[in-house]
Amino acid sequence: MVVKEKRAARRVFHWGERFSAVYNLRLYCDLVASNFKDCMIKKFLKRVFTKASKTRAVGNAQVIPYKLHGVSREQISFGALKVTDGLQAAGFQAYVVGGAVRDLLLERTPKDFDIATDATPEEVRRVFRRARIIGRRFRLVHVMFGEETVEVSTFRRMVESEDAQTDEHGRLLRDNEFGDQEQDAARRDFTANAMFYDPTTQEIFDYHNGYADTRNHLLRIIGDPLVRYREDPVRMLRAVRLSAKLGIKLDAATAAPIAELKSLLDNVPQARLLDEVLKMLLSGHSVKCVQQLHRMNLHHGLLPLLDVIMEQPMGEKFIMLALKNTDERLSQDKPVSPAFLFAALLWHEVLAAWNLRQKNGDRPVSAMHEAMDEVLGKQRAQLAIPHRVDAVMKEIWLMQLRLDQRTGQRPFRLLEQPRFRAGYDFLLLRCASGEADQALGLWWGEFQDANLERRAEMLQPESTGEKKRRRRKPRKKPETGVTSESAE
Ligand code: ATP
Ligand code: MG
Repeated sequence: MVVKEKRAARRVFHWGERFSAVYNLRLYCDLVASNFKDCMIKKFLKRVFTKASKTRAVGNAQVIPYKLHGVSREQISFGALKVTDGLQAAGFQAYVVGGAVRDLLLERTPKDFDIATDATPEEVRRVFRRARIIGRRFRLVHVMFGEETVEVSTFRRMVESEDAQTDEHGRLLRDNEFGDQEQDAARRDFTANAMFYDPTTQEIFDYHNGYADTRNHLLRIIGDPLVRYREDPVRMLRAVRLSAKLGIKLDAATAAPIAELKSLLDNVPQARLLDEVLKMLLSGHSVKCVQQLHRMNLHHGLLPLLDVIMEQPMGEKFIMLALKNTDERLSQDKPVSPAFLFAALLWHEVLAAWNLRQKNGDRPVSAMHEAMDEVLGKQRAQLAIPHRVDAVMKEIWLMQLRLDQRTGQRPFRLLEQPRFRAGYDFLLLRCASGEADQALGLWWGEFQDANLERRAEMLQPESTGEKKRRRRKPRKKPETGVTSESAE
């Protein structure tokens, strides 16, 4: 009897224990769900109640509601939303900032979405599993979501002038102090680039009238243009690039000092200058950018040979064609190579130097080598093109000599060169500009697609002189394009 009672009591106890475990689990789930719901409800309420249609002031910021600007959370990339949501859930501020906000207001598709936050790089890294800190001077965090990498920067402030490290021309050497949102807006370049978008409330925080400027299609520098260009002369090039790319006007006061300050570009480190020049040339709006540079007389320090070339009618036509071609390729999402573009920009200089040397009696190939080295040497003194790009440019130039030869095995060997396509495209540009014979371009167009029989018919007969020379000199080296072949 006693045993039975004991067993019954134990069963009751077990059931009680199980019940309390289940009950606890249920309580826990409720708690999680209610937290989640709370979070969702809070977000929802925040969005509903911030659906005001008027701008309001928060501190020195104008807060522009969704109803006015119309940029919705759905227009923000997956990764950028993950980052802002993640940081906000961890108690930090987080906004989409810069070019993306500007582009969305202009109804353009942003290239990428940058995030600004009050979390330090280490704090950001702690929130996300796949995040790494990059850069030594400006420490940023890259957060990876599959193909998308989102760049997160901590609010920074402009260093006050007495503490600022500048060179003798006023160029800022360091601006890496953390700050708040307002200070972060002030250190940015243009008013259109200094807006913060909160995907949770769908509000824009604007400290510098960037919203009105963007709506009016105006690019205006923040603060005193003279001071801001002295701090960072690259802003002059950014002004040209962004106004050309976005099809918006440069504000008069922003444009005015550029002519007198252009020599400041000489003090900018070459790598940074090259970076910005490439951004211009590969912006998809290179024709507009170069025309604008020329109009503002800004191109002198950048591509020192560009001004010479632009003054030769043939050179200008060739460059404009090359740039137009690049813009078209980019608009069709086709790849473009910086080497091809630089080769085009400098071609007429190479051509002039080559012709001069041949007139002085040099043989074509050695004259070409010297001409290339001379032009690249001059270019390097102003804006060094990286060596690997130099090498490809030389291949493209040397190939132009070899494309002239349509006898024997030479065209077949040329077709096998990995860079044949670039060389041929370059030839087409020369034909279109009137510098090379149209027939040559057409010949190569047909030859590359023809069958063997047709190719044999197309070959030009070797001149007797050529044959004789060959017999007398057994080939230790190929006759033309020597280095181009060995380089390839
Ligand atoms: P793009 O569409 O070409 O990327 P962007 O404005 O986003 O244009 P980025 O170079 O990606 O250009 O720069 C991101 C942001 O950083 C800018 O929008 C601007 O706020 C700020 N910024 C970039 N360069 C400078 C500079 N030289 N001086 C001040 N702020 C800058
Ligand atoms: Mg950008």
